[in-house]
Amino acid sequence: MVNKCCEFMLHQIAFYKDTIRPCCSFSIQGDITPFINNYNGEINEIKNYLEKRQNFIKIFQDGGKPECYNGCTTYQECKDNDEISFKLNNIIISNHTKCSCNCMYCEQAEFGQNKKLKTYLNTRIPYDIKPILLHLRANNYIEENCRYIICGGECSEYPKGELEWLIYFCMHTKGNLLLLSSGINYSNAIEKALKSSESILKISVDSGTKPTYERIKRVKAYDRVWKNIKNYIKSSENNSKSRVELKYILLKDINDNKNEIDKFLKKCEDVNCRFIILDVEHQYIKANKYNETAKKEISELLNYFFSEVSKYPNHPFISLEGVEEDWLWSLVDDKYNYKNGKQK
Ligand code: SF4
Ligand code: SF4
Repeated sequence: MVNKCCEFMLHQIAFYKDTIRPCCSFSIQGDITPFINNYNGEINEIKNYLEKRQNFIKIFQDGGKPECYNGCTTYQECKDNDEISFKLNNIIISNHTKCSCNCMYCEQAEFGQNKKLKTYLNTRIPYDIKPILLHLRANNYIEENCRYIICGGECSEYPKGELEWLIYFCMHTKGNLLLLSSGINYSNAIEKALKSSESILKISVDSGTKPTYERIKRVKAYDRVWKNIKNYIKSSENNSKSRVELKYILLKDINDNKNEIDKFLKKCEDVNCRFIILDVEHQYIKANKYNETAKKEISELLNYFFSEVSKYPNHPFISLEGVEEDWLWSLVDDKYNYKNGKQK
């Protein structure tokens, strides 16, 4: 039994373009990446990962704080009855980097303003995740009901057959899928997943108008994306285990106004969206978490969102997420705070 440890450390593994970690890249501060660096798909590194993880768990158990914990925004206490085993219930698959979108807030900082590096990332050849997943499965490391989070770069742009393979693997191992997509390219594989497997497709549109979309995404694909969203939602409608979530990340002075929010909600209604997710751009939160004026502004916008959604007949589910999810919930009026109640 584990006294005190991070839930992610125990049950999650994340394969990034050149690292293996227990959690998403937002959680690890600065340059400290105490797990596997310079990773290129080597199977034997899984053993090294397990050893490092074991050392960190020991530090937790001895009452200390491992390196990664310092400044971590995502730590989650494991459950009382958790055993130390390598049974994964969350696998983050983010080995690819290619993406036709160009979001101003892209998680990989290099995507941000530095166009040269984005060109590099868009041509980079990723390591093969398939033998790694087969290895984890063969060694009985994967729980049934494991969630596969397919998120880096853009899964609809994976080489032919790869996304299909991942979907098949997930279904075959009785897992479920969370697919993050820009929505720019319509994917028959995603459509199939929505029709026949337990899956969530999440698309961040972050805008209700074309100019704002193009400012944030820095590509001209607004109409295409909404058309694709409509078709994906239709595909999910006869499968109670799948859904499409549309996300709106509030960005300071860009989409944080009522007009943009109103237009976004109207578009959601047009495509029959049933799930809306809100977040606030993480760097902005980091810089303003203790700034009362910024907090008040964020709170007003979140509550505006909730209140406007509730006016729609048969209104969609709306929730908050992100590395500062708890903090965001604290800014929402109790009457909308469904976190532990009706909606979640
Ligand atoms: S303590 Fe934070 S950085 Fe370390 S594994 Fe947990 S979530 Fe990740
Ligand atoms: S869609 Fe995702 S991977 Fe592509 S640029 Fe935007 S945030 Fe980055």
